[in-house]
Amino acid sequence: MRDRIYLSSPHMSGNELKYIEKVFESNYIAPLGEYVDKFEQSVKNYTGAKNALAVINATSAIHLALRVLGVGEGDDVLVSTFTFIGSVTPVLYQGANPVFIDSDKESWNMSAKLLNKYLLTCDKKPKALILTHLYGMSADIKKITEICKLHGVFLIEDAAESLGATYDSQHTGTFGDLGVYSFNGNKILTTSGGGILVSENKEYIKKAKYYATQAREDEIHYEHLEYGYNYRMSNVLAAIGVAQMEVLEERVNKKRKIFEWYKEFLADNDNIEFMSELDNSRGNRWLTALRLKNIDYHDVIEALNKINVESRPLWKPMHMQVLFKDSKSYLDGTSENIFANGICLASSTTMSKDDVKAICEVILCC
Ligand SMILES: *Cc1c(COP(=O)(O)O)cnc(C)c1O
Repeated sequence: MRDRIYLSSPHMSGNELKYIEKVFESNYIAPLGEYVDKFEQSVKNYTGAKNALAVINATSAIHLALRVLGVGEGDDVLVSTFTFIGSVTPVLYQGANPVFIDSDKESWNMSAKLLNKYLLTCDKKPKALILTHLYGMSADIKKITEICKLHGVFLIEDAAESLGATYDSQHTGTFGDLGVYSFNGNKILTTSGGGILVSENKEYIKKAKYYATQAREDEIHYEHLEYGYNYRMSNVLAAIGVAQMEVLEERVNKKRKIFEWYKEFLADNDNIEFMSELDNSRGNRWLTALRLKNIDYHDVIEALNKINVESRPLWKPMHMQVLFKDSKSYLDGTSENIFANGICLASSTTMSKDDVKAICEVILCC
């Protein structure tokens, strides 16, 4: 049998080893060094972000964002309920309370309408909002940015899945006060593990860098006024990141092509509804996501597993998690409905059209 096809496997550009060798030649295996700067620069160049900080993963980047914005004990922080747990755990690290906002039917991302309604009626004003661009598809980011400004709520964009996605030609991650990208093993690009924090605000990134390096004061000895974390990215991993950034546009195009293939082979099927792309936006289609009607997703996952192909249910909404049973939420049933019959399909950029065809044939037999 051929190798297993994963949802989104790492896909090297070919230059990674070359750059890692350069790191070894310079003996700069330690965190920080030339490639960390280069990696940050390449993300800035590509996304148009003004300032960037490379860290160990996107979860720590979100944590730094909250810390920089002064979110702490007892604060309320709004978050997309339809997301991965890494969006939310940093809120807990800060002793703050997540408040979950439901999705809208069109984009599956956070509903701007519900968000606005909540902010108009809530007793306690939230300090910040963490907005996920789900499966690499841009949320209604312009409207949500406006709402946050209007209500004086800081906006952190969780663009962990959406590197390369744009709205009105502006990159997701660059609309908010701060934004994060993930370079985890399953994302569109990977450094095996890594994250980038971006902001227009230079002071935020300077402060984040300070917290990410154990909050060490600028003295010859080790002087500490506050506590920080050990969150900075290693020069070795940054070298991988530089090589990966070189092929980002290629990877986005391939992901979008895989989606088009799925659409082609599953066309005109009333039982299938794909996650849509908002007007004026370009998603990176990190994972092709769809809803199944009259088909049980367990059957599809099992049938695909038999041909050695990975597929999964969509993220289980956070308000449905036992961990958050006592948390506040503002819901209208949308994410629960999508989760009930939603599935994400293998979308690795190494896949061929024949792979997609074989997967679709299995789905159509379920
Ligand atoms: C992957 C992911 C994260 C966490 O990223 P790491 O780099 O693995 O910490 C956070 N939020 C979302 C939406 C993700 O998909």
